[in-house]
Amino acid sequence: MLMENFAMLQFFEWYYPADGSLWRFFAEQANDLKDIGIDSVWLPPAHKGMEGAEASGYDAYDLYDLGEFNQRNSVRTKYGTRDEFIAAVKAGQQAGLQVYADIVLNHMGGAEEKERVMVRKVNPDNRLEFITEPYEIEAFTKFSFPGRNAKYSQFVWDHNCFAGIDYDASTQETAIFSIQNEYGEGWQDVVSDEFGNYDYLMLCDIDFRNPHVREELVKWGKWFYETVGFDGFRLDAVKHIDPLFFNEWLNAMRGYFKKEFYTVAEYWAPGDLDAMLRYISVTEGRMSLFDACLQANFHRASVSIDQYDMRTIFDNTLVQARPELAVTLVENHDTQPLQSLEQTVEPWFRPIAYALILLREAGYPCVFYADLYGSEYEDKDKEGIDQKVTMTILQELKALLYVRKYLAYGLQRDYFDDAHCIGWTREGDETHHGSGCAVILTNGIAAAKRMEMGMKHAGKIFYDKLGHIQETVVIDENGWGEFNVNSGSVSVWTYS
Ligand code: CA
Repeated sequence: MLMENFAMLQFFEWYYPADGSLWRFFAEQANDLKDIGIDSVWLPPAHKGMEGAEASGYDAYDLYDLGEFNQRNSVRTKYGTRDEFIAAVKAGQQAGLQVYADIVLNHMGGAEEKERVMVRKVNPDNRLEFITEPYEIEAFTKFSFPGRNAKYSQFVWDHNCFAGIDYDASTQETAIFSIQNEYGEGWQDVVSDEFGNYDYLMLCDIDFRNPHVREELVKWGKWFYETVGFDGFRLDAVKHIDPLFFNEWLNAMRGYFKKEFYTVAEYWAPGDLDAMLRYISVTEGRMSLFDACLQANFHRASVSIDQYDMRTIFDNTLVQARPELAVTLVENHDTQPLQSLEQTVEPWFRPIAYALILLREAGYPCVFYADLYGSEYEDKDKEGIDQKVTMTILQELKALLYVRKYLAYGLQRDYFDDAHCIGWTREGDETHHGSGCAVILTNGIAAAKRMEMGMKHAGKIFYDKLGHIQETVVIDENGWGEFNVNSGSVSVWTYS
């Protein structure tokens, strides 16, 4: 069960150095994270990816290799070794954090052996259109994991385990090839109809029609939990996977271990709330989803400056439609600059966005690593020369986390009554001493707003916990106060 006002942290970012240090760094940080108001962490994929020591893990190679075997030219993964991973999860749990494991089951890459397989080529813009008759290609579809030598599992993946691939080794042609195997042909049903059918994303696309594949992945899931003992899952790229597979897989895991395994899935469909709701319907609420629609609104608001109507910031979002299943976020490793789903939130808007996800009743917020620790990456300047870009930490983040953990409780009163300046109050409750807060933010010029805190606060002196405004506010005898905010900013008023 999730506790009230839980906050999650995504403990990695795309540009974290590939030096094998992340698991150790997390173990060192765990106690401090709990202290600043983090309750759960999403760690990156622990298995070996096809890029070996450089792999993010979203290029899964061997799910049983958690940095234990010399495969893909490395024993460790980008983040460390198997023992360091297990120690990191334990350290997190000992600090009181829940630890979520990242599960990548849509595709695999880095097969050792080629096979001759029958395929049809598809139109990449409409994958339901087969543009050739069946013919044979040479495909890297046989994974025998020689470095692991059948330890933990003897399962060998071959073309009967995959529905698609993007490379013909005999002609060196790159295209999308639909594989014909013993268990079927064509794509599996997915919720998304982007590109006709969006089953295929990349590399060797796993075919869940093969019952041996489903059985092996349940067996692997049990081994993974028994080996590591995490608390829940983050499921990668579920938009590209038959949703009935995860119904079966989660039922198997939850039933076998008699454990909830909190689960959040990446169904990334900014601007297509209906598709996300269809996915929730088909998976019958078994998992939460990241609120890609809200993140897209944050992006649009941040680049529109004062042209965005702040009253609409929650329109067409998951946190508005299904708050109990929404994981809200400002940024992730894919929306970061230069990444596949780049949709970054401009720095000026980030404190506003974090106030919107951390200090309201609805949603389970996920804080992004780079906002807590910063990030550095290379980007080309106008002349095409690589320049180091530094993303600085978000100064207000710790204060916002503090207010979430200790003060943002009780009745919520909304004042979404102006195109630029909006606000809300939380009245506080009896169980959290000193609780109650007033939040005011604007994408326009400096503003003020009268908001009700509640009679019990009459006469109290409130100050801006973020330190943006120095003056104080006295709550009047009716429980109301007039709160201020600077231009393009957010202030969070508390009395304790
Ligand atoms: Ca797929």
